[in-house]
Amino acid sequence: MVINKLFDTAIIGSGVAGSALLFTLARYTDIRNIILFEKYDEPALLNSGPKANSQTLHVGDIETNYTLDKAKIVKANASMISNYINHFGYEESIGFRRDKMILAVGDDEISRLEHRYREFAELFPYFKKMDKDELVEREPKIMEGRKENIMALGVEDEITTVDFKKLSESFVQMALDEDKNVQMHYNEEVVTIKELDSYFEIVTKNSTYQAKTVVANAGAYSLLFAQRLGYGLNLAVLPIGGSFFFTKKKLLDSKVYTMQNPKLPFAAVHADPDMTANWNTRFGPTAFALPKLERYRQTHIKDLLKAMCIDRDTLEVYYDLLRDKIIRKYILTNFLDEIPFIGKSIFVKDARKIIPTLTKNDLEFADGYGGMRPQIIDKTKHELMMGEAKLVKGGAIFNMTPSPGASTSLAIAHKDTVQICEFLGKAFDRDLHEKEIVGK
Ligand SMILES: Cc1cc2nc3c(=O)[nH]c(=O)nc-3n(C[C@H](O)[C@H](O)[C@H](O)COP(=O)(O)OP(=O)(O)OC[C@H]3O[C@@H](n4cnc5c(N)ncnc54)[C@H](O)[C@@H]3O)c2cc1C
Repeated sequence: MVINKLFDTAIIGSGVAGSALLFTLARYTDIRNIILFEKYDEPALLNSGPKANSQTLHVGDIETNYTLDKAKIVKANASMISNYINHFGYEESIGFRRDKMILAVGDDEISRLEHRYREFAELFPYFKKMDKDELVEREPKIMEGRKENIMALGVEDEITTVDFKKLSESFVQMALDEDKNVQMHYNEEVVTIKELDSYFEIVTKNSTYQAKTVVANAGAYSLLFAQRLGYGLNLAVLPIGGSFFFTKKKLLDSKVYTMQNPKLPFAAVHADPDMTANWNTRFGPTAFALPKLERYRQTHIKDLLKAMCIDRDTLEVYYDLLRDKIIRKYILTNFLDEIPFIGKSIFVKDARKIIPTLTKNDLEFADGYGGMRPQIIDKTKHELMMGEAKLVKGGAIFNMTPSPGASTSLAIAHKDTVQICEFLGKAFDRDLHEKEIVGK
């Protein structure tokens, strides 16, 4: 067994979260020795890839399930991504200014959106109210054959669309460009982490390394690493898949979101112009429990069972979810959406909220698109946690980042960087970080 030298920080996973941390540590601290392990041969081949997610920079404006306080935090966090894109000149290569809107359909939703507009106007002064006539001009497909009343809040000239894979690649390149010992170890899967007296031992399939601090940004595997060290034993992963449908030709120019049913845990149906398909319209994502930790990759049953921790407490959380009529219907519909041939006949009913004249023949299942959300169940509180989860124990940090984790990746990296600097007694260059990333 080869024992390598002692690194200051080891990062596991080069999705957008791990890559953002690598960049932040390399550029804004005096930490000199950083190593990143990625089990595949390039960054962001899983959830951070543009075919896996909706490519949306979530800033809290069209996410109608966010409270004003949550939207303030998400806006500040996501603005770090647009500041990075602006500062380093990545507009139209990584971040795109595409129009975006939130639709309210029917009188009840219109009154909710009107109320929201008044409450959120100060935070998002760029909101533009759109009535039927304006919608006919901008997105005629939304109005064709529409009987219900409708209203929209539109967003123009903001970065709304991000290629999180290219973003990850740029983070890695920026880190490598710093005059430091930054090592990228692709095709090197971490098997386990051991906690020794004053450092961690990181065992990979090839070798063993030592690091004073370690951060796992490895999706559901982050929890497995934590649990092997005895942390987060009250948590379990509920793997939720998300799939998409393309329209056969492009029908919309803007990202179009719909109002969230507050009872439902995942984003309501939306339509997005897709950068990987010549900006063709992509509907989705669906949300369904899928026994996999990585979409379109081999299933490692042992890891899956460990991550899901199916015991009495976990089953009680499943039972509570299924007891609710609205959630039960939602789970069933999303399950049916996945069934070949009949799936699109079911899905099209939801998608008609955006384009009333849409038929199942206009849709095709987006094969090879979609990802997995590692939703966390808190077994002690008996609840399904939304958003990201973090476990911190001394020099070890374990992140699980379901949606909108890509949008908030630089903010998560910022928090972890401050923590690591405190732990190692290293300096964080707040002024440069504020100038380039926070945007002050
Ligand atoms: C359907 C869907 C739609 C979404 N839409 C959006 C959206 O529009 N906007 C948004 O902000 N977010 C969206 N998200 C969420 C977003 O995709 C994730 O929050 C984000 O990609 C998570 O990044 P990550 O780096 O934590 O994980 P990942 O991108 O999954 O990266 C984890 C990395 O860790 C590596 N890894 C795992 N185990 C090991 C190991 N043992 N050793 C070495 N490497 C390892 C993997 O190979 C991988 O590269 C969506 C998610 C889904 C599923």
